[in-house]
Amino acid sequence: MEKKPGKVITTLLTVLLVVLAIVRLGRIREKGPLSAHQSRILMDTVVSIQVYRGDAERIDRAVEAAFEEMARLDDLLSAWKPNSDIDRINRAAGADAVPVDPQTWEAIQEIQSLSELTRGAFDISIGAVTRLWDFSSPETAPPDSAAISRALPLVNPGQILMDGPNRTIGLRHRGARLDLGGAAKGYIVDRAIEILREHGVEAAVIDAGGDIGLLGKKIDGEPWKIGIRNPEDPGTTIEIIEVDSGAVATSGNYERFFIHDQIRYHHILNPKTGRPVPQVVSVTILAPTALEADILSTAIFVLGAREGLTLIEQLSDIEGVLYLEESQGLDRRASSNFPPSTGEFILSKATLPPRRS
Ligand code: ADP
Ligand code: MG
Repeated sequence: MEKKPGKVITTLLTVLLVVLAIVRLGRIREKGPLSAHQSRILMDTVVSIQVYRGDAERIDRAVEAAFEEMARLDDLLSAWKPNSDIDRINRAAGADAVPVDPQTWEAIQEIQSLSELTRGAFDISIGAVTRLWDFSSPETAPPDSAAISRALPLVNPGQILMDGPNRTIGLRHRGARLDLGGAAKGYIVDRAIEILREHGVEAAVIDAGGDIGLLGKKIDGEPWKIGIRNPEDPGTTIEIIEVDSGAVATSGNYERFFIHDQIRYHHILNPKTGRPVPQVVSVTILAPTALEADILSTAIFVLGAREGLTLIEQLSDIEGVLYLEESQGLDRRASSNFPPSTGEFILSKATLPPRRS
């Protein structure tokens, strides 16, 4: 039977497409095979682990162990989980100091020493005021001013009493309260990266809802590409940067917020006022560890562009970019060695005004 020419062409085209697809797949695999990719809900967010290189036999076990460690640490450090170390400290405020797990101790000690760099902008005793705000529903209202004024004196690092020899932590006054929401994810991502490394993983990314830890290199010599969310349209990317190692964290006013009387109230509070920080919409920090990146992204958000960028320039190994809400649109302000964007800038509304310095 004679084949119709049209059919021959279709068959040839199909074969060509299949060959192209195989070649393309081959290229992708060569460029960086993804050995494992798992996501779980943890720490109130989606946490994903992507492993690119490592001891193949141990990768599944490594990912499992990293997730287990993250869940264990979240059980210790969440203020909202009954009987977590933080919950026990908070419930005993003004009365007793509480013995804590060695890792709770280590986390709080590291957080406290990094907080000292932030000129009061980052303070885990902020719990006394964050408890007054409810960002869980879009229909809530801000707390009344009198309640904020009463709580503010309790927001003070002097409230936190750490007894080294007995490894106990206490809060000086009743009503004082710890909230590790701006730092725990960073600490936990660093620990999970360590677990992966101990299990023979050589290249991986952990993304805990905007707190990103990097291990090794996906492909030798090539940097990681990290997308920064567009604060005006968080489903899209505003810039893509290349990072060799370390960690990247973003704090945004779009993460947890409610709108009341046409005003947006969001979850990053100034410890001096007990209220959401105006004007800044997002801050991304590059740092050697996820803990540093997490704390500094929140702290620089609170400090604002002028003071925040001054602090970044004073710290070695730290770079950052802030997006600010101006009447003409978004303003982008980056530290001097922040990597240039390699991708396109995808802006929903505004075009970027020139950088002011
Ligand atoms: P996200 O949790 O969305 O990644 P952040 O890392 O910026 O964002 O942390 C914000 C959380 O940190 C808040 O939900 C609150 O628990 C806590 N927080 C808010 N303001 C401060 C502050 N000034 N200092 C320390 N912690 C803060
Ligand atoms: Mg943070």
